[in-house]
Amino acid sequence: MILAVEDRLKEAVGAKGFSTDPSEIAPYLEEWRGKYQGHSALLLKPASTAEVSAILRICHDTGTAVVTQGGNTGLVGGQIPFQNEVLLSTKRLNKLRGLDQGGMTVTVEAGVTLAEVQRTAADKQLLFPLSLASEGSCTIGGNIATNAGGTHVLRYGMTRALVLGLEVVLADGTVLPMLRALHKDNSGYDLKQLFIGSEGTLGVITAACLRLFPRPDVCVTALAAVPSPDAAVKLLGAMQAHTGGMLSAFELMPRIALDFVTKHIEGSRDPFSAASPWYVLMEATGGAHADLTASFEDGLADAITDGMVSDAVVASSAAQAASLWKLRESVSEAQKREGASIKHDISVPVAAIPDFLAKAVPAVLTLMPGARPVSFGHLGDGNLHFNFNSPAAADDAEFLAQWDEVQQTVHDVVKEFSGSISAEHGIGAMKVGQLPRYKSHEELDAMRALKRAFDPKNILNPGKLIPPVLRL
Ligand SMILES: Cc1cc2nc3c(=O)[nH]c(=O)nc-3n(C[C@H](O)[C@H](O)[C@H](O)COP(=O)(O)OP(=O)(O)OC[C@H]3O[C@@H](n4cnc5c(N)ncnc54)[C@H](O)[C@@H]3O)c2cc1C
Repeated sequence: MILAVEDRLKEAVGAKGFSTDPSEIAPYLEEWRGKYQGHSALLLKPASTAEVSAILRICHDTGTAVVTQGGNTGLVGGQIPFQNEVLLSTKRLNKLRGLDQGGMTVTVEAGVTLAEVQRTAADKQLLFPLSLASEGSCTIGGNIATNAGGTHVLRYGMTRALVLGLEVVLADGTVLPMLRALHKDNSGYDLKQLFIGSEGTLGVITAACLRLFPRPDVCVTALAAVPSPDAAVKLLGAMQAHTGGMLSAFELMPRIALDFVTKHIEGSRDPFSAASPWYVLMEATGGAHADLTASFEDGLADAITDGMVSDAVVASSAAQAASLWKLRESVSEAQKREGASIKHDISVPVAAIPDFLAKAVPAVLTLMPGARPVSFGHLGDGNLHFNFNSPAAADDAEFLAQWDEVQQTVHDVVKEFSGSISAEHGIGAMKVGQLPRYKSHEELDAMRALKRAFDPKNILNPGKLIPPVLRL
């Protein structure tokens, strides 16, 4: 970057709005797993939409590349500047712009953390249902840019379903004023949708109007022991029918995941006396007037009679429910403590999960005999964290060296089931090279056309999400 450009950018944000101090910039350059290490000599910290607009106008004029970063919790390297791009942090875009309690909406700037939005809603007896293990650090702008999922998609949808309006700054500095609180608006293309899940490649999101929901009075949580993934899929349908569609979470775990958690996570214990090959953590929520607990328990009793469930524990207090959730939420951490693992974030149609597992697990074990399959996740959404831990006595480095080969094998099976190689984490830098193998060239050409229209100089997050056209 030529000095004059750097000076103009610094001037656009004022003394508090930038840093060139390597020790201040360092934490922004490494993602939480330590998988990616970036490089940037200039960190910009705009505090207003006008400042973001000024930055992008200068970058567009001068062809200067920019990487936008929210909470730096992304899992595919999208937020990391690899080629000394200017790093634009949204952390100072942190204002609550308004809350409409009756209309059940909240308008916040992009750098507000997810946990803060949840708290703001809870203070008014409302619910913002997006829930991720990274919620203390990730930002609403990042959640929208990645179209984040999490544990309550089954009931409330992905982040996309929670966004009513957006304010976005385009690559040339133009502000798109789409910050409306409308549930219905067919007055032309729904442009905001293009930016949801665009991973910082089409514009910088500066504010969002989000949907809130009534806070449920009743929450029933149960852990059910099930004989197979097939039984789990049938249980999902049965419990949705029994509760009138009130399930808010339906999470699958294999026995090995429970073993890892009880071995590595302090204070966790297996609530059953006998082992089961699979478990489902279920949650239903609703209002106090409907007898949700009774219909939930009736559904479970029927499922036991029908052989879908061999045993079940229904939480009798909030503390018990929390300890059941802890078993599920600790799987990633326990897996890490158990040793090296190769991970995939895939989705297939819900009903195809048993067949997918039956095909993909043996395919991987042929490549890595002795590897330990740990497939868990959001069964209700058809989304599995399809992971493998190294064999107990294996050399971790040797095991991890097989990552690319294993990943391709898994993703090829995903393709056979018309699934997705990224259910919720995105493409970023990690999967951009593989996308052409799994997405049609017609879809990729349409994505490239959009990119050219919104960012003709390719200054926004270059090299991420959009694979270059291969020239033979
Ligand atoms: C422990 C843990 C658990 C997780 N669990 C889940 C989960 O259950 N489900 C799930 O979907 N994800 C999960 N994630 C991934 C991550 O938390 C989400 O992708 C989150 O939405 C990223 O938000 P962020 O603010 O940290 O974004 P960052 O990591 O800073 O950025 C992510 C991407 O969004 C872009 N971006 C960020 N802010 C903006 C903006 N304002 N405008 C335009 N582009 C922007 C960046 O350029 C980058 O491409 C998890 C991560 C961790 C560490």
